[in-house]
Formats: sequence, structure tokens, C-alpha cells
Amino acid sequence: DIPVITIDGPTASGKGTLADEVAHQLGYIVLDSGALYRTAGLAAFRAGVSLDDGPGVARIAAGLDLHFRKGRAILQGEDISELLREEATGLMASQVAAHPEVRQALHQLQLDFRRLPGLVADGRDMGTAVFPDAGLKVFLTASAQTRAERRYKQLIGKGISANMESLRADLEARDARDKGRAASPLKPAQDAQLLDNSGQTIEESKGLVLGWWQE
Ligand code: C5P
Repeated sequence: DIPVITIDGPTASGKGTLADEVAHQLGYIVLDSGALYRTAGLAAFRAGVSLDDGPGVARIAAGLDLHFRKGRAILQGEDISELLREEATGLMASQVAAHPEVRQALHQLQLDFRRLPGLVADGRDMGTAVFPDAGLKVFLTASAQTRAERRYKQLIGKGISANMESLRADLEARDARDKGRAASPLKPAQDAQLLDNSGQTIEESKGLVLGWWQE
């Protein structure tokens, strides 16, 4: 059996950073499932497919020529890593992620990331839908204010101007859609460990997760 740790939670809760740190420590592979939904949204938009068209977007998602190399996302030979991180791409992702057909199209692709020595998967439904047998499930939260501040600092750090109020409004809108949808809504798995990292450093969160993993 291939060991799997899942880390789910809302937008900008720090899932990606925590997943990278835990995976690095254990020598595991990382699955950033949000990147798959972001790519599906972007590719559909570029192909002129309406983001409301579930079957249409699912066809695009099923045929994605996407791979990850040294932490970069390559779509049909083009490095789309920066584009993927944009706020607009996150909103497109959350639109296409509401379609069950799109989730189905990306399901096997996500399972294929399971390889030895192990996998850390981050997203919204890693513990509930994609890897229900994972050995450890973490549900990561932080207050909306904390999450907006983190996003703000990230953007400012990259020299991109940002507005706290609109960032917070955007992430709350995305969370509401992710929680409210019928297909794999954002919620903790029944057997998930709940972790609110609002007042924590990444080292502290990582220590907790590794402690649970060793139990
Ligand atoms: O985590 P990230 O912000 O990259 O995810 C972008 C969007 O993709 C989320 O807002 C969510 O709608 C969708 N998503 C999802 N299921 C996942 C990962 C992401 O529905 N496992």
C-alpha cells in the first residue's frame, strides 16, 4: 500500500506550503489538485468553451496535455506556472470545479499521482472523495482575515499591487461556492484532524502533522 496524507481546506489556508513541507520532510510526492482544476479552467477558457458547460469543460479536462517538471506546470509545452497562480484563474477553477463531469474527468489523473514512497495530496476533497483510505487526513483552516493577509503579502512580495478588502471578498466568494456545490463540497472528512493555523508558524503546523503521521 502506498502511504497517502491528505490536506484539505479553504482558499489560502496554507495547504500548498504545508503539503510541500511535509512531503519534503518525508521524501514524498506532492499532488496540488487545485492546479489541475486551475489548468482545466484556463484551458477551457482559451479554447472558447463556456465555463458553465460541464460536459464541454470535462472533455478539455480529460485531454489535458499537462505535466509537472521541477515544480513548474507545463501545458502543451508552455510554462503556465505564473498564470495558474493568478486570482482570476482561481475563480475560473472554482467555476469549473462545480461540475461533476469535470471532477470525474480529473479523478483518475489524481489517483495516478500515488507512487512510492508516498503522496501528500492537497485540495478540497482529497480526504472525502479522491483518497478516502488515506492514512492521515488533515483539514486546515484559518480565519478569512488571516488568509486575506497572507494572500496580500504574497502578492505584494511579488511586486503585484493588491487590495485587502477585495482579496478577502474574493476568497470568501470562492469558499462559499466550494462549500455550497453539490459535487464534493468543501468539508472535513469524518476522520480528519482539524487544524486551525491562524496563529501558527509553518514549522508548528508541520510539527503537528508529522506527529500525527508517526502515531
Ligand atoms: O487550491 P486552489 O486555490 O488552487 O484551488 C482552486 C479551485 O479549484 C478551488 O477554489 C476549488 O473550487 C477547486 N478545487 C476543487 N477540488 C480540489 C482542488 C481545487 O474543487 N481538490
